[in-house]
Amino acid sequence: MTIPFLAPRESYLELKEEIDSAYQRVMNSGTYILGEEVRQFETDFATYCGSKHCVGVASGLDALILSLKALGIEEGDEVIVPSHTFIATWLAVTSVKAIPIPVEPDPATFNINSDQLECAITSKTRAIIAVHLYGLPADLPAISYICKKHNLFLIEDAAQAHGARVNGTRIGSHGDAVCWSFYPGKNLGAFGDGGAITTNSDIIAERTRILGNYGSKKKYENEVCGVNSRLDPLQAAMLRVKLNHLDRWNKHRQEIADIYISSLTGTGIELPVIPVNYDHVWHLFVIRHPRRDSLQEYLAKNDIISLIHYPIPPHLQEAYRSNDLIGHRYPIAEKMAEQVISLPIGPHIGDQTAHFIAGCVLNFLASNSS
Ligand SMILES: *Cc1c(COP(=O)(O)O)cnc(C)c1O
Repeated sequence: MTIPFLAPRESYLELKEEIDSAYQRVMNSGTYILGEEVRQFETDFATYCGSKHCVGVASGLDALILSLKALGIEEGDEVIVPSHTFIATWLAVTSVKAIPIPVEPDPATFNINSDQLECAITSKTRAIIAVHLYGLPADLPAISYICKKHNLFLIEDAAQAHGARVNGTRIGSHGDAVCWSFYPGKNLGAFGDGGAITTNSDIIAERTRILGNYGSKKKYENEVCGVNSRLDPLQAAMLRVKLNHLDRWNKHRQEIADIYISSLTGTGIELPVIPVNYDHVWHLFVIRHPRRDSLQEYLAKNDIISLIHYPIPPHLQEAYRSNDLIGHRYPIAEKMAEQVISLPIGPHIGDQTAHFIAGCVLNFLASNSS
């Protein structure tokens, strides 16, 4: 039997009764846009994150775009982004016509290298987007300090880090706006698209809420040119159910990560590094190997599906061909794209399966060592 990379249906089967009753509650309520379910989820998620506000939106990408707009970032402004991230981080910046300024990752943590941030700041820089890649929080103490010092906004792309902590504090209120995705494969995933912004700022909460609802606070009165980006009440109701299980699922991910780490330490494969006082939530378990493609083939032959996050860095994407960035080299991001491989992790991977997968990686290493 093939070991899938993700199994989103399993979370439905596990919680079928609760999910079905949430679905029926919404269907019988007669409210299919916003309403009590969305408001309740926003309250629950803000409480979970320790933030003052949560604003539901239609996707993680929209959360980023609306945050940039709410902060007044516009054409010609520079926004510092990681060179190694999912394309959405960059798309948000270019969709408001601002300029993404890439900074390379620390190869040990995969997250933006905070030592290199200050070199990238110019008089046009308005914000830094810190991505908590793969589930590990970025270096928030240093990044927050740099933002304050240079009067920049801090936006967090927390799409992969539901429940992660820095120095015991959950992600969700460090930056001016913290952006979440509830895409089904995320640690907290809906059964369709969804997203949210958490913030301690009354102003940013109000602005993002208005921007996502046609620029209107009062029906048919439009203060600004907004868009339609709202969290679906069906998704909100099902997310309320799943939020109660998030910590347990994250704990399970940690157990699987522990198995991988203990099995693969000292074998020559590059393992993820977790800084002291950081709680990783293992959205992805990413290792590095110079013969990554052969490793992926070997795993596939053993019925293990692995994925690459991500095979082409944003600056080399066709989408950014006409961008000035195309002439620049980001060698660390490019090397990551060549060497990273993600092993299956999540509630659907049991301990025995994790041992089997780690064993296959070890067999590959043994057969390649000569
Ligand atoms: C998934 C993801 C997004 C986008 O979320 P969507 O809900 O798919 O729009 C943004 N940034 C990162 C890092 C992601 O992993």
